[in-house]
Amino acid sequence: MNEQTLSMRLERVAAHIAPGARLADIGSDHGYLPVALMLRGVLEAAVAGEAAQTPFESARRKVRKNGLEQRITVRLANGLAAIEPGDRVTVISLCGMGGETIRDILEQGKQRLAGSERLVLQPNGGERELRQWLMENGYRIVHEEVLRENRFDYEIIVAEPGQAVAYSAEQLYFGPLLMQEKSPAFLVKWRRMLRQKQQTLAHFERAREVPQDKAEAFAIQVAWIHQILA
Ligand code: SAM
Repeated sequence: MNEQTLSMRLERVAAHIAPGARLADIGSDHGYLPVALMLRGVLEAAVAGEAAQTPFESARRKVRKNGLEQRITVRLANGLAAIEPGDRVTVISLCGMGGETIRDILEQGKQRLAGSERLVLQPNGGERELRQWLMENGYRIVHEEVLRENRFDYEIIVAEPGQAVAYSAEQLYFGPLLMQEKSPAFLVKWRRMLRQKQQTLAHFERAREVPQDKAEAFAIQVAWIHQILA
């Protein structure tokens, strides 16, 4: 991957960022996403936010190397603190972090949101917790997809504020749009998850010290997966 050729995962994220967007890419690491989209002429402006010094410097170097200092601002900041009102951000991407980390970043930085930004999220696990936050904070999920790259299943969740929706427990677990569409990648992911969860459940049954509520919650998930794959 480099600033011209993104991974398939980041290409699919990029597909949900419309021409003319003003992007804040939080947890930008090397800044690949904003730099690639700026070089392609997709973005009007961008902020690359990074909490760690080494990736922050790497992103800054990449922006400078491509002569984009006037178009992409790189900030060393925790979460949404990288965004300033004058940035007039229209899309926020948070990718390649755990879903619970993304949720915490959104929760801690809520006051920085203008209330109109599209969120393009690519959590590594913790999707249910992230969807729960979106629902509780008045976001509607407008697009979801699953893709497999380098032996990992990745989910992309795109959400927009307004028109709040109440999702069921299963919709939060599988994704409301994903469970409707049941794409081949979705089915492959959940067949794999079923095998893993069945093994864990068998282990729970052998082990004496697993709390009953945990084992029950797990058994419910296994039943949901059976149902969705039926
Ligand atoms: N977004 C890129 C991608 O999807 O390829 C990079 C993902 S990298 C695994 C996660 C990055 O998020 C790391 O560079 C890490 O330093 C950064 N990060 C983690 N927590 C953060 C926070 N609270 N605020 C800003 N950046 C954060």
